[in-house]
Amino acid sequence: MERLQGLVDIPEKKECTKCHRVLPISYFTKTLRNRIGKAPACKDCASKRFREYRSNPEVKEHLNEYRKEFVKKPEQKKRLSEYTKKYRARPEVKAKDKENRQSPEFKEKLKEYLQRPETKELRKGYRKNYLAKPGVKDNIKKYMDAYYSIPENLKKRKEYLKEYVSRPEVKERSKQYIKEYYSKPENIEHRKEYLKKYKQRPDVKEKNRQYYLENKEKINKRKRENYKRNK
Ligand SMILES: [Zn+2]
Repeated sequence: MERLQGLVDIPEKKECTKCHRVLPISYFTKTLRNRIGKAPACKDCASKRFREYRSNPEVKEHLNEYRKEFVKKPEQKKRLSEYTKKYRARPEVKAKDKENRQSPEFKEKLKEYLQRPETKELRKGYRKNYLAKPGVKDNIKKYMDAYYSIPENLKKRKEYLKEYVSRPEVKERSKQYIKEYYSKPENIEHRKEYLKKYKQRPDVKEKNRQYYLENKEKINKRKRENYKRNK
């Protein structure tokens, strides 16, 4: 109170109790704890002390916990998301963002992120929700039909698929899938039923007949060999 009323003379210079430098009074922060209203140690020493305090593992942990709990609060989340939106809308930030997205580091990071199992699950969920919205599926179909009605696009797609199924890892995967599929009796049964019906189709019967007529020799030879082998 005395100080506020101008009753205390504030010195122009003061010695720091830590580093013992004599420094101008502006080098000392305000405090209400003593008569002259200035901290005993200089700003440099105070910030050094604060840095040391913060780098203590226990304090670090504590601050992190506090931060985590703080950002979880709904009003805090809202504030943060509003701030982020505004920040990203700035022209200079947008430009920088675009530039970053084209860097090899970003692409590498993105690739790594997309390959994480939890990311895949998350995206599956998004996709499901999106497709469940009314009209979305119809729109996609319309778009696809238009796209593949252009012969060049269809040709590209077919070429890509051909290349894709010839990849060793894809081949291995589909082999595994088929193996798993036919390890279930109901699937084998289903397949049998399907083949039976398939063979009875008039067009298939006709095709088989043609094939037989054209390859009579070969087929009969194979049959004889099989017969001999099984005897
Ligand atoms: Zn000092």
